[in-house]
Amino acid sequence: MADAVLRLFPEAKVAIGPPIDHGFYYDFELPRALTDEDLPLIEAEMRKIIGAGNDFTRTTMTREQAAARISESAQPYKVELLDDIPEGEEISFYDHGTWSDLCEGPHVESTKQIRYDAFKLLSVAGAYWRGDSENKMLTRVYGTAWWHKKDLKKYMVYLEEVQQRDHRKLGRELNLFSLHAEYGAGLVFWHQKLGYVRRQLEQWWWDLHHQREYWPVYTPHVASEEVFIQSGHLENYADMIWAPMDVDGRPYRVKPMNCPGHVTIFNSTRHSYRDLPVRMAELGSVYRYEPSGTLHGMLRVRGFTQDDAHIFCTPEQLADEIVDVLKLVHTILSTFGYSYTAYLATRPEKFLGTDEIWEHAISALVDAAERQELNLEDDPGGGVFYGPKIDFKIKDALGREWQGPTVQVDFNLPDRFDIQYNDADNELKRPVMVHRAIFGSLERFVGGLIEHFAAWFPVWLCPMPVAVLPITDEQLDPAKELRSKLMARGFNVELSHDGPLRKRVRDSEVNKIPYMAVIGEREAENGQVSLRIHGVKQQVTLTIDEFIALLEDKRSSKSLTYSIDAE
Ligand code: ZN
Repeated sequence: MADAVLRLFPEAKVAIGPPIDHGFYYDFELPRALTDEDLPLIEAEMRKIIGAGNDFTRTTMTREQAAARISESAQPYKVELLDDIPEGEEISFYDHGTWSDLCEGPHVESTKQIRYDAFKLLSVAGAYWRGDSENKMLTRVYGTAWWHKKDLKKYMVYLEEVQQRDHRKLGRELNLFSLHAEYGAGLVFWHQKLGYVRRQLEQWWWDLHHQREYWPVYTPHVASEEVFIQSGHLENYADMIWAPMDVDGRPYRVKPMNCPGHVTIFNSTRHSYRDLPVRMAELGSVYRYEPSGTLHGMLRVRGFTQDDAHIFCTPEQLADEIVDVLKLVHTILSTFGYSYTAYLATRPEKFLGTDEIWEHAISALVDAAERQELNLEDDPGGGVFYGPKIDFKIKDALGREWQGPTVQVDFNLPDRFDIQYNDADNELKRPVMVHRAIFGSLERFVGGLIEHFAAWFPVWLCPMPVAVLPITDEQLDPAKELRSKLMARGFNVELSHDGPLRKRVRDSEVNKIPYMAVIGEREAENGQVSLRIHGVKQQVTLTIDEFIALLEDKRSSKSLTYSIDAE
């Protein structure tokens, strides 16, 4: 591709071009901006190069020889890349035809081996040289390459599906959420329909926690900087904490984490071993600085709400507590149809605490996983310095992996805040502290749900599960009556009676309303609806009571389907 771009733009400067998952990219400095229309032209040039069938040859050379060759080609970015190669490492060039590039390799042997019909250039994007916004903005061209045309085709179908489900696209089309540069980058506005989804999730989340004897707490959104000095957050995570604001001459910070607040509540009273475990839960909004280039819709933001909880327990209670968390993780993830993998992150090179407490905590995590028959993949040394953890990765409907729940043991905060309980032997002891979040960030989780469900939310979450469509205004009264009945049972219902039926049906489908209850003369007479269900070909006629029972069953079972038949 770089060869083709240089043939089309001889004055172009080439920067860096690595392989990535399912493809590759290359960054260029070009005399003019590229558009998507340029991509077929570059592809055509690439096919010529493939057709020429030139061999790739690898030449190693000294740093001086390499520098001479680069200066001949007048490629300034390559000079910098050459400087980056550590002393003593082999320096190689790959050549084919008239093209020559500083490259580590490996390459295919000949351009012939590239299938002319199994690659495609996908997109053009801006990218700063070395990812630094102080540097020049370059043009990045993305492409994909496969061994067979059919694999490329399959991949393109997948990409199309990913694009169709993109939560930013669906968010715009369905008026779910927005971001506003003038308000601040990475700050999410939840619009009415997505606000409804979130409220349902939150209520369910509170119910699940109440059943497991977690108590709700609320802690301040800002705190004197002293708090984050004591917690160590300023020392260890300075980059992600927002700059201080002045209050009465003292620096205050917006909280990046809820933990110090929960520790402060724990420390406000004395605790006996009989009080433990103490479980506190908060849907806590936190703010963390993320570089602007990494922000992405709802998935990577600067303000988000964690479904945060902390457990304070005795060392002996730790394994039981972890078991309960693992059960809860399973309950929550399986409700959305997510499969998941769990990773045990063990002691890193730099760590706090003794071998003994690390061993105890890790064996509690392992023991709990065994009791739950949960397979733990190893993530050796992947723990944070203050304790081991289990991280979950979840797999969505497209087979993509997302960062999931985390359960983490902490040896740091209990020390830093000197938390204690009075044990049975009347000695003051340190409780064990567990951090856990299951949604993680509500913003990221719900952004992921939009893509996972393609915004066809299950009935219990669905902001608008039913459209009532009278065929003519003659059926307006029974339509209104049905709407009232459903609203009284807590379902949102759109009454759609303006315009031709076919258009109303299409609008309901576009707005992702899964149930369309059509009422004509006959249905009105018999107290029935003719039901169109999303994804179900056959229309069915149900009595009003049957329809209500169907919706209530779908809601209470948190069914992942809309159809009448058994799951
Ligand atoms: Zn925490």
